Order: sequence, then C-alpha cells, then structure tokens
Amino acid sequence: MVTLFLDLLILLLSLYLLIRLFINAREAFLKKRYPKVQCSRCGNCCRIPEIPITHKDLGRLVKATGKPAGQIVRFCPDSEMEFDAESGLWIAFKSGKKAMVLRKKSERCMFQTNDCACAAYEARPQTCRTFPYSVEFEDVKCLTVCDISLNGVLDCNAAKCSKIDIDKLLTEVCKENREDKEYHRLIKSWNKSSPSGNTADFLSYIGF
Ligand code: SF4
Ligand code: SF4
Repeated sequence: MVTLFLDLLILLLSLYLLIRLFINAREAFLKKRYPKVQCSRCGNCCRIPEIPITHKDLGRLVKATGKPAGQIVRFCPDSEMEFDAESGLWIAFKSGKKAMVLRKKSERCMFQTNDCACAAYEARPQTCRTFPYSVEFEDVKCLTVCDISLNGVLDCNAAKCSKIDIDKLLTEVCKENREDKEYHRLIKSWNKSSPSGNTADFLSYIGF
C-alpha cells in the first residue's frame, strides 16, 4: 500500500514537472516570438475610443497635473461605449449605469497635444502604457505568460521594429491587471451599497 502511494506520488510529481516544463518553454518562446511594434504617434488611440481609467490612474493624474479629479474624468453612459455588462466598469447611478473615462477636448483626450504627444506622459494611465499589446496570463497572479498579441480594437499604425522591452511591458500589464481588479472590486461594492449616489459621491468614495 505504501509503495503504491509512493508510485502515485512520483507519477503525479513527474506529470507536474512535465507540465511546468512545457509552460516555461512556451513562455520563453512567446517572449521571443511576440509581435514587435513601435508607436508611430498617429494619435488614434488617444482620439478614437473612450478611455476607461481606474482610481489608481486617476490618483496619479491628479498628483501629476494638479487638476481636481472631476476635471480629468467624466462618466460615460452605455449608449456611448461598447463594454459588455461583465466588464466590471459599469457604475450604478440613479441616472443609469456609467463608466469613468478620461475627459476629451475637441474630440481627443484632454492630454493629447497638437503633435500627438501626451501632456501627462509620466502619469499616463496603465491602459495607455500597454496599448497596443494584449497579454494573457496562465494564472491570476500573472506569473506565467500564455499569449502576447496586438490589440485589434482600433486602427493602430504602430510600425514593426526589431526589439521592445518585453519585461517592462509585462510589468506594466501585471500592474494594470492588479489595479483593474482592485477598481472592479470597489465598483462592485459601490453598486451593492450606493446605487442612488451621484458621480461626485462616487469620486469621494474612491478617494477624491
Ligand atoms: S493620457 Fe496620454 S496616452 Fe493616454 S489617451 Fe490621453 S494623451 Fe493618450
Ligand atoms: S494608435 Fe498605435 S501608432 Fe497610433 S498612437 Fe496609438 S499606439 Fe501609437
């Protein structure tokens, strides 16, 4: 009986090691063979979409720009934005569900300059740091990469290049995932307890 148990244990351990080997090899492959592109500063990603941000992004922007939170974000109804009900972005207000997005000025992000640079570059939101990449992880802790691709949600004119700082990108994506989860948890809790609050109440609830 003891021998059978030990055999089973060794078999399971070997299987686990094999799977780990496979996952590590795939990750090493992906880290070399992902699409490598460099932003051409066409400005489309700062102009076309509504850009949802988190409480952490907002905190960094407030600190860097000195502007009050209410001048940086607005609350966008679902008629203006195509995010599914499960995205975790929808905040329940008396007037209906809305998502917190960056304000625009003349149809472009309020921070985009005339030459398509970012006036808040050092404090730009995580989603701006990782676009146009889309990275999936094997696990919730973002320990193992399972896919690196280009996000096809809008017309991006990034040009092919020979190398990017992949470790920096992965660090930014992990941070983005972590902060998104925290923000979505805050929204979930708000939606359960304060659906009759207004947008100023929500900003105060997330610390502004
Ligand atoms: S914050 Fe900067 S990078 Fe992000 S959308 Fe606005 S201008 Fe573009
Ligand atoms: S759409 Fe692509 S190429 Fe254009 S500014 Fe954004 S990341 Fe750069």
